[in-house]
Amino acid sequence: MKKIPFLRPNLVKKETLLPYLSEIDTSRIYSNFGPLNKRFEQRILHEYFDNSGEITTVSNATIGLILAISHCKRPNGKYALMPSFTFAATPLAALWCGLEPYFVDIRADDWCMNEELLNETMQKLGDQVAVVVPYATFGNNMNLEIYQQWHQSGIPVVIDAAASFGATHHKCHFGKDFPGCVVYSFHATKSFGIGEGGLIYSGNSDQISKIRQAENFGFSLNRVTDTIGLNGKISEYTAAIGLSTLEVYSQKAKTRQQIYSWYLKELSQKDLLSKGWKLQKNKGTIPHQFMPIACPKGKKNNDIINSLANRNIEARTYFSPSCHTHPQFMNYPRTPLPVTEELSSRILSLPLWEEMTLEDVNLIVEGLVSS
Ligand SMILES: *Cc1c(COP(=O)(O)O)cnc(C)c1O
Repeated sequence: MKKIPFLRPNLVKKETLLPYLSEIDTSRIYSNFGPLNKRFEQRILHEYFDNSGEITTVSNATIGLILAISHCKRPNGKYALMPSFTFAATPLAALWCGLEPYFVDIRADDWCMNEELLNETMQKLGDQVAVVVPYATFGNNMNLEIYQQWHQSGIPVVIDAAASFGATHHKCHFGKDFPGCVVYSFHATKSFGIGEGGLIYSGNSDQISKIRQAENFGFSLNRVTDTIGLNGKISEYTAAIGLSTLEVYSQKAKTRQQIYSWYLKELSQKDLLSKGWKLQKNKGTIPHQFMPIACPKGKKNNDIINSLANRNIEARTYFSPSCHTHPQFMNYPRTPLPVTEELSSRILSLPLWEEMTLEDVNLIVEGLVSS
């Protein structure tokens, strides 16, 4: 039986890197915001953000979240408000910044943090709120208007946009002009995969220059440390992979959308959406990282995972178990989380990678039918 893996990352090939590697051999600059990193950043800012705002590359999105939260948090705040339905990196970043995660439930339709509940929680906690960290679930182009208002009213907002690089709505890249910080991941398993890497964007350029200082040991211009820092830079080799990936990314994103649309077609042809299977409500264009779907109420995602495994199909359950049940996070405060808990028992992450065929999608959806 044919084996269908969950993900099959396919990064740029060595031939496309050679011209950049020769440049590194000539420049003999290997890191510290070198010429390739500079070009990588300039191209991203130009091609994805219309030269509006500012960006800085980071060694990964977890470090990016730590840098952004550390820079933005209110000094006397205690809590980082965030969904529990996210990757462990989100609450971990808060902990590294000396904050406690405070988990807020999500909405049943788009699986993003419930803003009404968040608002009530913010009212209750008042000055104890240090920062709000929404997660743009699975690359969804979530509406940022209310977060923009909160940010401008003095409650800092850092968006975990790990899966969002390349996501657009009405031709506008997700996060563009947002005045807080937006953090994207370039991990190999993300759609814009370069191995390890990430990006922080802000519509407020001043914030990015301070974060850029923080990710270089907090050095000011005369190389003395005058803010809390760390090393969060990428090497010139990573920038080379990034530049080469920019050449092919729009095609990669299209391929991913195509596979997603095959799923939609197969799911509706086999009538699963009227039999209790549920998709995330999303909008705009998303370079899907994988295929999330909730199984019908009363079924258990883990049973379906096993049934797919018997057909040689590998699936996962991102983000179940959700964060508030992990030993490291279970003692932190939270709102009631009924939607998170229900989704955690139903969520499945189905395979999605660029060389998948319609036949693969057909086999997977067949597997769901008989699960
Ligand atoms: C992948 C991911 C991260 C971490 O990204 P890295 O670049 O691997 O550090 C953070 N948050 C979410 C929601 C993610 O999916």
